[in-house]
Amino acid sequence: MRNTGDIFMNKPAAGAAHAREESESAFDFDPDVYRTLLESTLAIPWRIDWATMTFAYIGPQIEPLLGWPQDSWKTVDDWAARIHEEDRQRVVDFCVSQSMAGVDHEADYRALTRDNGYVWIRDVVHVVRDEKGEVESLVGFMFDITERKKSEQELLDMQRRLEALSFEDGLTGAANRRLFDRQLKTEWKAACRYGTTLSAILIDLDHFKQFNDRYGHIAGDECLIRVAAALGKAGRRPRDVIARFGGEEFVILLPETDAEAALYLAERCREVIGELQIPHESSPCGSMVTASIGVGTTTPTIEASAREFLTGVDRLLYAAKQAGRDRIVSDTI
Ligand code: GH3
Ligand code: MG
Ligand code: MG
Repeated sequence: MRNTGDIFMNKPAAGAAHAREESESAFDFDPDVYRTLLESTLAIPWRIDWATMTFAYIGPQIEPLLGWPQDSWKTVDDWAARIHEEDRQRVVDFCVSQSMAGVDHEADYRALTRDNGYVWIRDVVHVVRDEKGEVESLVGFMFDITERKKSEQELLDMQRRLEALSFEDGLTGAANRRLFDRQLKTEWKAACRYGTTLSAILIDLDHFKQFNDRYGHIAGDECLIRVAAALGKAGRRPRDVIARFGGEEFVILLPETDAEAALYLAERCREVIGELQIPHESSPCGSMVTASIGVGTTTPTIEASAREFLTGVDRLLYAAKQAGRDRIVSDTI
């Protein structure tokens, strides 16, 4: 490996003569000044001879960073072999094609450390050409960007979490009204396009005001959490959405579901609420928490609206309440 002095000091091109004069006065072209500068920064300098694909130089900072000794960096194969295998192909292909085209470039990748870990590297590459314009060598700097990558990842995780939270009901963890409304719009359009049926189940706990009055608001909250969890287990398909519709009301949206299947699921919902056996001694409907349920099924059209459909389902729920609660009323709308 050559010494540092001649690493980055190419024969200057004619146009660079002036710049050279200026820098000469600053550093007197003392190779030691360049060496000190290059080796005292956190960026790790390197140079590869294009013809032989071998390292002419790599800064000594590489060893404390990755653990591989400075003189173990011999060819580009050593470089490629020390790239995380999930990044290797992409990075090697990109850097080779850019270099062949003579284009300066940069690549982020995980460089493997000698003790089986990895460090995120940003490799910034400059293509050096000779007088004829042929690629002569590549020079570059490796930057340790592990910390930056970590904070980027944390930010991304936080964004995802925030997005999830914005669609989640804070009390029960079920989907919230916002997600339900969005999904209803989407499913309505899909059903219009494909001519499929759409069903919705509206579930409203009976005499819940009296439950709060009797057991307190905290117990009321706990009851809602348990009901939401039970409904979640009532058996549904991945595209179905269970959401908290409002106070003590839940809604289940069932795409591509006919009236019979929707009624079957509504019966399951009523059963699972009953199985919770949550005492409600002030209820005129019995001694446990019960629910009234409206089930509507429709074949959406562009002329009809999702809102009218929901109003229809709400009417069925109201009919269940009027008929004495703790029951299901279903219809096609
Ligand atoms: P009905 O059988 O006609 O549905 O009677 P109801 O008492 O359940 O209905 P009403 O609409 O009169 O009252 C709803 C009650 O639900 C009143 C309100 O305090 C309670 N509620 C709504 N949201 C929450 C909540 O987040 N936590 C608790 N603990 N109670 C809630
Ligand atoms: Mg209600
Ligand atoms: Mg109620």
